[in-house]
Amino acid sequence: MTRRTFTKSALTAAALVGTGAAAKAADVDVVVIGAGAAGLAATDALIRDGYTVQCIEAANRIGGRVFSDTSTFGVPMDYGAHWLHNRSLNPFVNIGRKLGLKLYKAPSNMRVMVKGRDATDADEIAFFNEVERINHAIAKAAKKRKDVSAASVIGPKNPWNLTASAHIGSLSMARDMADVSVADCHSAKEGVDWFCAQGFGTLLAAYHAKTPVTLGTRATSIDASTDSVIVETNKGALRAKSVIVTVSQGILKSGKLAIKPKMDSQIRQAIGGITMGSYNHITLQFAQGTIDAKPDSWIAYQLTEHKNGSPTGGGILANISGSNLCYVEIGGSFGKALEAKGEATMIDFGLAELTALFGANIRNGYIKGSATRWGKNANVLGAYSGALPGMIATRQHLHMSIAGRIFLAGEATSFGEQATVSGAHKEGLRAAETVSALLG
Ligand SMILES: Cc1cc2nc3c(=O)[nH]c(=O)nc-3n(C[C@H](O)[C@H](O)[C@H](O)COP(=O)(O)OP(=O)(O)OC[C@H]3O[C@@H](n4cnc5c(N)ncnc54)[C@H](O)[C@@H]3O)c2cc1C
Repeated sequence: MTRRTFTKSALTAAALVGTGAAAKAADVDVVVIGAGAAGLAATDALIRDGYTVQCIEAANRIGGRVFSDTSTFGVPMDYGAHWLHNRSLNPFVNIGRKLGLKLYKAPSNMRVMVKGRDATDADEIAFFNEVERINHAIAKAAKKRKDVSAASVIGPKNPWNLTASAHIGSLSMARDMADVSVADCHSAKEGVDWFCAQGFGTLLAAYHAKTPVTLGTRATSIDASTDSVIVETNKGALRAKSVIVTVSQGILKSGKLAIKPKMDSQIRQAIGGITMGSYNHITLQFAQGTIDAKPDSWIAYQLTEHKNGSPTGGGILANISGSNLCYVEIGGSFGKALEAKGEATMIDFGLAELTALFGANIRNGYIKGSATRWGKNANVLGAYSGALPGMIATRQHLHMSIAGRIFLAGEATSFGEQATVSGAHKEGLRAAETVSALLG
């Protein structure tokens, strides 16, 4: 496809590219690479500021790691983000309400179970004490500015240690405690979580229904070593004054997107130190009423085994928004190994975990399952970012520009709301503001 026809087909989706530009002038002011929460926010903000923008997206849909599938189960299932974390900082609760969607506070109490039954009061207290003890040890180490691994501060083992480690490590940070930086973990701002009954993906897609995006267009290289910034894509080249790159740390690290001139060593260090974790939903559908749990029950069940410190097992979100879906959540290196075995093995695992907790009879009500495999998704290559122990200081280097004209933005560039949709959205806005100031 020639540059001209590429622009034409892009126009049908974007209607933004200036035509008849002089040979040396940029074809658009800004190219935004990626239409996840960050890229979509940046695109809208720059258009509002009067710039010409072309947002390109490798996939054939918008949303990136925020996507609701309503066709597989007939009810919404979030492929990626599901929790609207920390309502006090999260703009999407109000955005969703304005869109007429059903938003509600997530139940605050966690249900604790052991094989086949609810935990006794004593066990429940032991679990919550263990969570508190580990969180306290992480906070203490972080405040001493010692960016060590969470595993190194855990201290003595007790019967709930693995379960608490799974919820703080694999299921929150998407990594084993040995790979969790205490400073990164402690810096993540906590607050009250909310849900959207129609799915977080539905909310984001509705909010950005009018944001112009050219789908199915993968950037392969960015070159800012000449007058303009040239973005090569599978559909031809684009030229801009500035580029905002919102792809995941996984994509940046993979080298699938070549960037010229060579990035500063501090940015390269940050790409090596802020890495993608593993986290997936195994979604299981049952006849209504099969799983004896209140809507949106977040269940911690006792884990007793581990492999190299990675707890064997996950957590459960049951009867999502009152529907007949349950997520068995898995993460860390245990989850990554399970992901590598394929969807069928993941579904079998999820069903076995629920059977062990709720009894063999639930299999009579089982309808079907699916499992996400974000580590295998070629457009993301992992779940979300986290700093390796000792690498927290490198996160800020992701705010450095490349050649003064290429800017990184996304969940990984956030401090405090890293690994969240809200963080990615705000980082998109920040990058847009930076570019806006640059372009004048
Ligand atoms: C399983 C899972 C559960 C999660 N749960 C939560 C949760 O409950 N709450 C929460 O707040 N967050 C959660 N997150 C994290 C949240 O989804 C992300 O932090 C956020 O969506 C990231 O947005 P982003 O814009 O930074 O990146 P992305 O959403 O990854 O957007 C980047 C986009 O770039 C595109 N792209 C990649 N390469 C190219 C290329 N070369 N050319 C063009 N386009 C390209 C990708 O296709 C993608 O659409 C979860 C993530 C996962 C995977």
